[in-house]
Parts: sequence; structure tokens; C-alpha cells
Amino acid sequence: MQRLPPLPSLQEIIRIYGLSAQKKLSQNFLLDMNLTKKIVRSAGKLNDALVIEVGPGPGGITRPILNSNTKKVIVIEKDRRFLPSLQILAEASSQKLEVVHGDILSTDLQQFVSPEFHAHWQDPPPNIHIIGNLPFSVSTPLIIQWLHHMSNKSSIWKFGRVPLTLTFQKEVAERIVAPPKSEYRCRLSVMSQYLCDAQLKFSIQGKAFVPPPKVDVGVVHFVPKVQPLIQQNFTLVEKVNRHLFQMPNKYYPKPLSTLFPLDREDLVSDVVEKSGINVELRAFELTIEDIGNLCNVYAEIVKKEPDIFTYDFRSKKSAKKRRKRGTLIESLEEKL
Ligand code: SAM
Repeated sequence: MQRLPPLPSLQEIIRIYGLSAQKKLSQNFLLDMNLTKKIVRSAGKLNDALVIEVGPGPGGITRPILNSNTKKVIVIEKDRRFLPSLQILAEASSQKLEVVHGDILSTDLQQFVSPEFHAHWQDPPPNIHIIGNLPFSVSTPLIIQWLHHMSNKSSIWKFGRVPLTLTFQKEVAERIVAPPKSEYRCRLSVMSQYLCDAQLKFSIQGKAFVPPPKVDVGVVHFVPKVQPLIQQNFTLVEKVNRHLFQMPNKYYPKPLSTLFPLDREDLVSDVVEKSGINVELRAFELTIEDIGNLCNVYAEIVKKEPDIFTYDFRSKKSAKKRRKRGTLIESLEEKL
């Protein structure tokens, strides 16, 4: 098993290269190697694997990845300042490590996968792993983007069910894995869980980072499901969920009604009736199966009346109508 030769510590690397964390880039480094090793272990067995690490910074997670008998390691880092120190790791690893300067939000990961790592979607996951401790402002839009790619088996998910091990603000991690009725249940819970088995592996106290963020961090492992729990396209599922979760304290027919023009209450009744879900449930109490049923009926309607999908209840015209309707109802209630 090939291991890295003795190297300067991360603290020394940071001092020698002047790599102080930049607050405006939300850089919080993990320098405790027990924790970085634990993150890498959460990804599973990495023997002979291709590992893509996003946001390696000074290399605290990269080192245990390189020491895990991996075959190839690609790191993608946006901040140029880290490139020379990562290059030292590349040399120490006998070029097993490839350093890429780039923004992960606009990098298509499929370019890094050679044919030996390809698998089919129905197969067990390929020996490819994506690992990253990114700024919170990047990890949330990134997971949405990647869930979308998984849903249509594009980008790196062309080559099978590539798993992810990523850090999030603890509260976001709780949301990703929240079951129905949990106080954390939200749109992100449904979007993650209909496509993946998502597991919160462990939490890290904010004070373990340098400099410490104000919040704790959760490490989440995602494995794409062979069969998504909702059989509709991602954009439609996302739209239905966005509407459902916008009024957390109302029973679901109310937020659901914003998917339809005001004069089409027949369609709201249609969805409620056909889906057969108890009308006294709030969005956070619905199971993924329930939400899948709502999506299926909505998709049927959209198939017959495509304009419904582009209806935007927030547009000026619809808002004016809603306000008018609201005022009308209020004045009637006052009279009664
Ligand atoms: N992984 C290191 C660790 O655990 O100590 C650094 C963590 S720091 C929170 C996030 C790292 O991601 C920084 O090195 C930052 O420059 C990098 N980063 C931020 N946005 C990025 C992006 N869009 N693409 C690639 N890297 C990014």
C-alpha cells in the first residue's frame, strides 16, 4: 500500500504559504486529522477508487484520501493560493493526485472519469467517490444541481450511481435527512430523499474549524437510488415541492392551490381527490409517496393543459387577482 512520505504539517503549510482563511470566501479549515480521516472513512472503502475532492484548501481531507489506497485523486479548488501547496501533495503522491483550478459550480465532472470506472445505473455504485468540505454558500446550490444531474443520469452520473460525502451547516444536514413530521422536514428533505439514500454520518462542532464558524457542521453521505421514489421529471417535482412548502402552517391544499390560476379551483379539487390524501395534513407531514401522488396528478393535468405549468402565481397579474379576491373575501367575512 502506497502512503505519502512525511510532509510538513497542515499548520506549517498554512504558515509557509501564507494561506490564512479568507472570511469573505467563507473558508474554515479542518486541521484536526482525526476528523478529516473520519470524513474520508464516511465515504466507505476507497481501495482502487477514483476520488474527486471539491474545495481541498490546504489539503486536510486530501491527505487521508491519498493514504486510503486510492487509484486516482482529482481535487478541484477555486482559490489559486492553494495550488502550490496542493502541487507538493501531487509530487509526494507520485502524481496520483491531479490538481484542477476551477469553480465546482461550473465544472462538469464526467471529464475526469476514464472507462475503467464506468458502471451501469442498475449496478452497485461505481468505484468513484465525491468528497468535499465546501463553504455553506456553495454546498447547498451544488447539491441541488447534482440531484438534478442524478435525476437525469447526466454529468458524472452517466457512469452509474456515484455516491457523495459532503459537509453542510448542521441544520441543513438535519433537513436533508429529516423524515415526515420532523420539524426540519422541508423541500430539500424531499428532493434529496426521493432520489437518494441520504445518511447523516456525524456532526462536527464549529469550534473544530479554523477559524470557527458560528454553527456546527454535519457530514452527509448520499447514494443515488436505482429507482427514484417519484417518477416525474426533476423540474416538475421541484415546482410542486416549492409550492407545497411555502406555507408550512397551512394544510397542504392551500399551498397546492398556488400551482393553479384562481379560476381553476376545479383542478385543486381534482388533485386532492385523485391523490386521496387526508386534507388535514401539512406539507411537512406528507410522505414522499404522498408527494409523488400529488406530482403524478399534477403531471397528468399539465399533459392535458401545458399552460398550467408556466402559471406563476407571483406574477403581477395573478397577484393582483389574488389580492382582489382576498379583499373581497375579507369584506364578505366582515359583513357576516
Ligand atoms: N477542505 C478544506 C478543509 O476541510 O480544511 C477547506 C475547506 S473550506 C470550508 C472550503 C474550500 O473550498 C476553500 O479552499 C475554498 O477556496 C474552496 N472553494 C470555495 N468555493 C469553491 C468553488 N466554487 N469551487 C471550488 N472550490 C471552492
